[in-house]
Amino acid sequence: MANLNRSNSERYYEDAQQVIVGGVNSPSRSFKAVGGGAPVFMEKGDGAYLYDVDGNRYIDYLAAYGPLIHGHGNQHVAEAITRAAHQGLLYGAPTTLEIDFAKMLQEAIPSLEKVRFVNSGTEAVMTCIRVARAYTGRNKIMKFAGCYHGHSDLVLVAAGSGPSTLGIPDSAGIPQSIAEDVITVPFNDLAAYEAALEKWGDQVAAVLVEPIVGNFGIVAPESGFLQGVNELTHKHGALVIYDEVITAFRFMYGGAQNLLGVTPDMTALGKIIGGGLPIGAYGGRIDIMEQVAPLGPAYQAGTMAGNPASISAGIACLEELQKPGSYERMSDLGRLLASGLLQSARKYGHKVTLNRVGGAFAMYFTDRQVKNYEDAKSADGEKFARFFHLLLEEGILLAPSKYEAWFVSTVHTPEDIAFTLLAADRAFSKL
Ligand code: PLP
Repeated sequence: MANLNRSNSERYYEDAQQVIVGGVNSPSRSFKAVGGGAPVFMEKGDGAYLYDVDGNRYIDYLAAYGPLIHGHGNQHVAEAITRAAHQGLLYGAPTTLEIDFAKMLQEAIPSLEKVRFVNSGTEAVMTCIRVARAYTGRNKIMKFAGCYHGHSDLVLVAAGSGPSTLGIPDSAGIPQSIAEDVITVPFNDLAAYEAALEKWGDQVAAVLVEPIVGNFGIVAPESGFLQGVNELTHKHGALVIYDEVITAFRFMYGGAQNLLGVTPDMTALGKIIGGGLPIGAYGGRIDIMEQVAPLGPAYQAGTMAGNPASISAGIACLEELQKPGSYERMSDLGRLLASGLLQSARKYGHKVTLNRVGGAFAMYFTDRQVKNYEDAKSADGEKFARFFHLLLEEGILLAPSKYEAWFVSTVHTPEDIAFTLLAADRAFSKL
């Protein structure tokens, strides 16, 4: 497959820009980071494939940035949503579905002693921070450089260039005074973390941690790092918040916390737990969660929170994940794809580093080991952009950014992987 006709996408992109800012409803969907051009307008999804408005087919490794672990149009999920729609979309009153889903999450991730449903990962993280501040009576937040935790003011703060710096806002519209409450340190660097806590520890309410980083590729914690973060944070009287918006149910039935054997005080969830519909959830220790209204003084609410369609989709999605072999299969295919890519890249002399956990991986155009954001930044973005477009021409869809992961879903087949590897081999040969 070569030189796909995408003239309809190009035309719709022109139209879209007349009415929607930048033509997209999330900046990550634009092709700005891969040299520009019209993003592909999709018409329908079916299993592992997406079809665009010009009738081209793509094998989808974007998975809508993570949620679509069963690919597109999963029947069990679709039936659950349809059933919910027929029973009325929203009541503004509690439902038994919410109890069922909360119990399901709690069984899978035992640290969620109490949970609350919200509408997005952004909301989940934002509220964890508020609750941690309410619980500790402190204001500052620690985070790791390069980790994205949604677009609320406090977490949209860039890493400074030093090993440990007070943040500067990453977006216009965020007051410097807010950014000054955020302390950013490199991931996998316990000494830098300890030093920052020595300086600011008595003002820190919580640390935000992606236990396996999913926002500058895929980066696993080094042995002892998360345990060290837990110990040091608690020593300074602060809370540990795991942002498992990407990681929960990605690598196993449960959170990355189950996989790694470390327990946070609070956890933020999203993406996969909504089966493709908008959702977020947060939870944790009872004494902390009881800070939340109506029991406590920390306010959080939501007209759409816990809506029956999202909850039903989430339950159905997790039920599908309970099928024996789901995770083994994703991991096997992930290994096959990642090792094939590595082999192919080396065949043509390209320096790449591949980080993989289960069915999720990142390929960086660098010969550096990638353990933190600085390492990830060293990857050749221009080369990635050319690789991205070559693969798109072959009908393979990745996220348009050198920092995003590839996600293998439960519906990818060995044939999809073989097709992808042949396409990638041609792409590497032309790079
Ligand atoms: N936290 C992490 C780790 C994420 O990757 C994201 C989104 O990509 C968010 C939070 C924000 O979630 P949402 O886009 O649902 O608001």
